[in-house]
Amino acid sequence: MKIIDMLLKDQFTLSFEVFPPVREGNFDSLYSTIEELIKINPHFISVTYGAGGSTRDKTVEIASRIKNEFRQEVLAHLTCVQATAEDTAKILDTFKAKNIENVLALRGDPPKEEKAFLKPEGGFGHANELVEFIKMKDNFSIGVAGYPEGHIEAPNLDVDITNLKRKVDAGADFIITQLFFNNDDFYRFRDLSIAKGIRVPIIPAIFPIFNYKQISKIASLCGAKLPSKLHDKLCKVSNKSEEVEKYGIEYATSQSEKLLDNNIPGLHFYSMNRSRHVIQIIRDLHLPIQKSAPIPE
Ligand SMILES: Cc1cc2nc3c(=O)[nH]c(=O)nc-3n(C[C@H](O)[C@H](O)[C@H](O)COP(=O)(O)OP(=O)(O)OC[C@H]3O[C@@H](n4cnc5c(N)ncnc54)[C@H](O)[C@@H]3O)c2cc1C
Repeated sequence: MKIIDMLLKDQFTLSFEVFPPVREGNFDSLYSTIEELIKINPHFISVTYGAGGSTRDKTVEIASRIKNEFRQEVLAHLTCVQATAEDTAKILDTFKAKNIENVLALRGDPPKEEKAFLKPEGGFGHANELVEFIKMKDNFSIGVAGYPEGHIEAPNLDVDITNLKRKVDAGADFIITQLFFNNDDFYRFRDLSIAKGIRVPIIPAIFPIFNYKQISKIASLCGAKLPSKLHDKLCKVSNKSEEVEKYGIEYATSQSEKLLDNNIPGLHFYSMNRSRHVIQIIRDLHLPIQKSAPIPE
């Protein structure tokens, strides 16, 4: 089913992101995580697309398995990195052949060996061009990325939202946000998006923290601020992993609770290929979704 059809029916969507493991040996563990996540009845699971090389094939393999074996709706990410329009058309054909109906269209981050994103010859320079191409090619439901604190390369939030509007004008059906830890950033971003004429659903995404070093690195890479209360608490418990995880769950639950009171179309969680903490958060949130799916103990 297309994600836009779920959203148009005013269906609140619960979703999780997973990524293809770098090591072959970690695939069994990823599929066990996916099985656990499916037990809490999400509306879709999204699968990231690597900056290059073999993990790209893995995106298709994992997304196809989620859709066709696990019978769970899926959102396959796709980027412009190192791809010509012809390469992209082939991947979209594979998505279609595997019954994948939803694509998250991204420009992508540059591969490790490159400092900045380079528009590939015969390819696309920005996500709006990719959205346009996908729209012309086939009947996918298309999501795009939005940045509550502004994209790290954008001169300011206003310019970034103008660029977000280009993606929507090109045919994007919905927006999933970058992680953020201060809901006011999300509300401001949503208000500004609406003021600029963006009328598609904006789904906030939550990152449950379970490792202090890891979140400091991720937050600085994507330009997300850690509010001082969160930062100070994490600093205090940084070498006690259980306490970091406990506080991470509490923080993500409280952040989600407040968002749920503020008219959001869905909630997306960056699972980092782990199920335990997101299952705990969903249980603590008492989403109506639990009525139809018992939460595993
Ligand atoms: C929900 C989510 C999922 C993600 N999944 C992946 C993934 O699977 N794989 C991966 O590699 N990365 C992923 N990313 C990271 C993303 O690829 C990076 O943030 C990347 O740097 C920007 O991608 P974008 O699609 O937002 O690019 P764009 O929308 O192209 O924006 C990139 C920058 O260019 C500016 N810009 C946009 N359009 C134009 C234009 N037409 N003219 C001039 N300037 C413009 C924007 O303001 C922004 O600063 C994800 C991010 C999010 C939020």
